[in-house]
Amino acid sequence: MSLERIIAALMCSVGYNRTPKGSALDFVGSHILSVDQFERSDIDRLFAVADDMIPYARRSRITRVLRGAILSNMFFEPSTRTRVSFGCAFNLLGGDVRETTEVKWSALAKGESLYDTARVLSGYSDVIVMRHPEEGSVAEFAAASRVPVLNGGDGANEHPSQALLDLYTVRRELGGRRRGMDGLRIAVIGDLRYGRAVHSLLKLLALFDDISIHLVSPPGLEAPADITAALRRRGHTVEVFHRLEDGIHHVDILYVTRTQEERFESQEEADRYRGLFRVNQEIYTEHCEPNTVIMHPLPRDSRDEAQELDDDLIANPNLAIFRQTDNGVLVRMALFAMVLDVADEVHNHSSPVTWYTAKRTPPKSRGRERL
Ligand code: ASP
Repeated sequence: MSLERIIAALMCSVGYNRTPKGSALDFVGSHILSVDQFERSDIDRLFAVADDMIPYARRSRITRVLRGAILSNMFFEPSTRTRVSFGCAFNLLGGDVRETTEVKWSALAKGESLYDTARVLSGYSDVIVMRHPEEGSVAEFAAASRVPVLNGGDGANEHPSQALLDLYTVRRELGGRRRGMDGLRIAVIGDLRYGRAVHSLLKLLALFDDISIHLVSPPGLEAPADITAALRRRGHTVEVFHRLEDGIHHVDILYVTRTQEERFESQEEADRYRGLFRVNQEIYTEHCEPNTVIMHPLPRDSRDEAQELDDDLIANPNLAIFRQTDNGVLVRMALFAMVLDVADEVHNHSSPVTWYTAKRTPPKSRGRERL
């Protein structure tokens, strides 16, 4: 399908034409395909709803606000966190989940078009989450869908829900130190060329004020020029580094990423980059400020030859990677609640949890290890 056809179809599709840039995103019925749809006020609204989801994600209460609703979770690329947390988020709101993982088990393997698949599935479901290896494929699918479609990652392009949960995590981690997003200093490290989570996160950061960004990558894996140019146009400070040690000084956040080996022309080419940048406790102690928060969209590559985020950081209280994954459920619940227009109804359909949950919530004494 040509780009023009996709754009034209998208304008007519569910809700998207109601959200021109510069005005508030009308979440209700909208596809969530790109972080370009968001303004700062939309993020604030989404995060307020995510905060409201804490009792449900923590299992203090349950809600059945989406009882009877069906999510089709379509993942045509490997996924653990995104697939399971979208599914759990929908279940936690009381809805049911149907999953297809892998093209070979879907009719796409028989030559069915994304258009036909979207028309069929949107007849079965109330909302669809889709991940696909091709850039733009989720938008093409959404154009034919009669129900809202959420982009679970389209090739090297975008991963909006990951970037939103990353931002939510930054806000919570810094909030504990009475710091806001404006003035944030962040080092984004690794494969910035193919990392879709990075692309979406950098675009979202542009919405805030006075951000200082260190882009730390091996030569050849730099962030796309259009994204860095847009950050600079909005007055942010962007510095490029090719040595890890040079780029991790004086930052609040280290956002480490994996070499996206599945996006390279060949395995040999990917192997040239693997293991070039490894953050471990020694490097952290020597080069970072004492409270620098460590994040990673995960999975981290823990094979000996990679280790971009070493296991020896596990005792470091500033390692936020599992708080980040927990936050993913909150943000994805909020996306469903807002797109399906039940955000104000969640508590009206709730009751206390009756089963054993004590060990889910870490004791307060562990301070920052919280949900
Ligand atoms: N899970 C993230 C993604 O799907 C990051 C990664 O795979 O490295 O893009």
